[in-house]
Amino acid sequence: MTTVAAYAAPSAKAPLERTTIERRQVREFDVLIDIKFAGICHSDIHQAREGWGEAIFPMVPGHEIAGVVTEVGPGVTKFAVGDRVGVGCMVDSCRECDNCKAGLEQYCTGGGMVGTYNAVDKDGETTYGGYAEKIVVDENYVVRIPEGLALDVAAPLLCAGITTYSPLKHWNAGPGKKVAVLGLGGLGHMGVKIAHALGAEVTVLSQSLRKKDDGLKLGAAHYYATSDPETFKELAGSFDIILSTVSAPLDLDAYLALLKTDGAFVNVGAPEEPVALNLFSVIGGRKTLAGSGIGGIQETQDMLDFCAEHGFGAEIELISASEINEAYERVLASDVRYRFVIDTTTI
Ligand code: NAP
Ligand code: ZN
Ligand code: ZN
Repeated sequence: MTTVAAYAAPSAKAPLERTTIERRQVREFDVLIDIKFAGICHSDIHQAREGWGEAIFPMVPGHEIAGVVTEVGPGVTKFAVGDRVGVGCMVDSCRECDNCKAGLEQYCTGGGMVGTYNAVDKDGETTYGGYAEKIVVDENYVVRIPEGLALDVAAPLLCAGITTYSPLKHWNAGPGKKVAVLGLGGLGHMGVKIAHALGAEVTVLSQSLRKKDDGLKLGAAHYYATSDPETFKELAGSFDIILSTVSAPLDLDAYLALLKTDGAFVNVGAPEEPVALNLFSVIGGRKTLAGSGIGGIQETQDMLDFCAEHGFGAEIELISASEINEAYERVLASDVRYRFVIDTTTI
């Protein structure tokens, strides 16, 4: 065991504070990663405050991890000391079910994926995430960060990047397709960049026009405020795909009306409350209401390579560990441009 410094939520009601945790000794197929940067995902906040249901405390959040390999187990073949690597939302899965074999480890049916934190690993130990100095992970759940990508702007790709890339690819965002990205936060801003890079015509639907200039710079062709009722009249029947990244309950019926016939509303936002739906909203126009969860390991590597080829990472605000609690409040207030990333040397 190695003792490492970390930031943890002691309980759902308490702010995060500095602590220490134990990392396991490097096993045959493990890599030890010196974490350099960790992104703050809204999912960290949902979980640290028990918004999604019972959670494990103390909790060290963080599933947008970028760092450098400092030790490898004797069986490791994919990585060497000095490699720049990332870890996302999972650190293991059954590896045997149809989904695991198909590279859809995030939908593992053999017991489910093992979350990077707030989960119990196969050895019965609680997992602790990326707000820490180091992490030990099986090499099969580690990805390579391409040379062209700086580690700080790469970190958010490990969740925000893959969570938007996977559904955009699956629902064929590309030339000739009109894609709306709903919510311009951590996921949303990556959704705009990726959909634009895939060749789609991108529209941002945000609560206000406050971030319009940014949205257009990120690659959107159009930008509308959802607080303006005119938006819903003007855009009725417009989109092939709406990618919702909104962290709070939504008026689904109003957004489904913005789809073309056969269009898809793909939800990745994970609000803490259920939402209502009038099923006539999908009957008229043969519409699809779908969801999507992160992405598989190979797909995460493909996404990193795609971002490097297109020359972009995330837009980030680098913070020190002592600013984590304040950053959480700013995320909750939709005041993030567009991802907080912790410089883990400050832990
Ligand atoms: P974020 O940075 O807080 O972005 C969410 C955006 O949603 C905000 O910036 C805001 O955009 C909009 N929004 C927030 N509250 C709203 C409200 N009451 N009404 C309308 N719009 C609102 O969060 P994130 O890190 O991108 O995560 C977004 C959601 O995705 C979270 O629920 C997170 O847990 C979930 N998530 C899911 C997956 C998955 O695998 N499916 C993976 C990662 C995260 P505007 O200011 O532009 O309106
Ligand atoms: Zn996340
Ligand atoms: Zn499986």
